[in-house]
Amino acid sequence: MPSITTPTSLTKKALAILLATLMFLSVAPSADEKHIAVYSPVASYTLPVLDRAGREYVGLLELLEPLGRVSTQSDGRRLRLRYNALDADFFAGKTRAKIHGRDFDFGAPFLIENSRGLVPLSSLSALLPRFLGTPVNFRESARRLFIGTEGIQPSFRLDAGNPPRLLLNFSAPVNPTISTEPGQLRMVFKRDPVVSPGSQSISFDNKVITHASYSENNGDAELDVAANQPLMASFTDDRKTIVISAVMVPAVQQTPAAPSGVGAGSQNPAQARSAANIASGNNNNNNNNVRRVLAVVDPAHGGDERGAALTDQLAEKDVTLGFARLLRHELEIRGFAVALVRDSDTSLTLDQRAAVANVARAGIYISLHAVSQGSGAQVYTALLPVEGTSNGVFHAWNAAQAPALPASRMVSAAIVAEMQKREFPVRASSASLRPLNNVFMPAVAVELAPGADGVADLTSANYQQRAAAAIADAVVSVRDRLGVQP
Ligand SMILES: [Zn+2]
Repeated sequence: MPSITTPTSLTKKALAILLATLMFLSVAPSADEKHIAVYSPVASYTLPVLDRAGREYVGLLELLEPLGRVSTQSDGRRLRLRYNALDADFFAGKTRAKIHGRDFDFGAPFLIENSRGLVPLSSLSALLPRFLGTPVNFRESARRLFIGTEGIQPSFRLDAGNPPRLLLNFSAPVNPTISTEPGQLRMVFKRDPVVSPGSQSISFDNKVITHASYSENNGDAELDVAANQPLMASFTDDRKTIVISAVMVPAVQQTPAAPSGVGAGSQNPAQARSAANIASGNNNNNNNNVRRVLAVVDPAHGGDERGAALTDQLAEKDVTLGFARLLRHELEIRGFAVALVRDSDTSLTLDQRAAVANVARAGIYISLHAVSQGSGAQVYTALLPVEGTSNGVFHAWNAAQAPALPASRMVSAAIVAEMQKREFPVRASSASLRPLNNVFMPAVAVELAPGADGVADLTSANYQQRAAAAIADAVVSVRDRLGVQP
């Protein structure tokens, strides 16, 4: 069921900030902070790197602690360390130490600061095997240290459909932070021992998704994918595949939306003809009057956020995803470009969902929910907070929907009419329902309830398909009012 929120203090939030961050918001460490990443079968971690007298150092205790039992004692000039059953002696300012009774040469002075031992990064390839008994692979220029692991090598597969998708496969689950900027999607791997896919740059034989590149620096591995359309990423359930899809923004200029309050009778004959072609399934592009409108369909909930428990076994998040895929198909055969906000069991915030639609400048946003009680469907449009007003170029975040609301209500009325034709009990209402409030374009939420066969209907492809077809027909009937309001 929808999570209905009361108006919050977010009204001052500038949309510009959100638009800049798009789908995945992440907190990046300060660019000048130096780090080393350590990957081992028992732990993967990052540690700060300190500059001392022109050399890079890392704390010895912090380095060993995640790997075994370690303790140290220091009087400020000498540091005694025990790692598992192994003893070592270090001396402040000296390049030589004793490890398990044998000499070790750091090649640079060992440092003691506040009873803490610091070792030069340049010594790690030689130092760590003395403690761990296994060789290590230290890529010093990138500050990435691999202990007893080969790393995870990614592989790419381009699915040249429309829209094209890039499938990025990993041999183990990964958890990158993902961000987008115009023409690029960046994946930064901080804790995953991701290594080069074999070459630093890979070109794809595709007009939309053109190439990918790999780099590593300051303890991070980074994969960048370049495209000439906005990209969105989703994970498969096992987190071993990242699916990167282009969000196809209609190439044809959308017709300016009619001013609020003007009815649907204003369409010109050419547009009426296109709509008829689309409604009859004639999707050939010889007719230049066909506007390809982008519909963003949002299966509500996902990931850890399961939505309502429709039965003991059935989570709302799974019903909304199946329903969204059917609706995508119904809209596509009617000539719409469609982007799903998620096409897997991923969790996304409401702000991220709104950003997908806003950044792509979708013509319509449709959020899907499901509920075990009631019957048929409920269609919601936004109920805007009273204090939500526009302030110059910055729209009040909770009232971003305001200019599009008359068109949203028209979409809602069209869905009600189409569902009634198909004998779905259906009601329309307004609710302060995020993220409807936060999108610029016509936006509705449709909550699917059971039909005559009870809760079983919610997973019935036939039942979902009838509902999806009704929604798609309704969207076709109002397509000339879709788009971002000027
Ligand atoms: Zn819900």
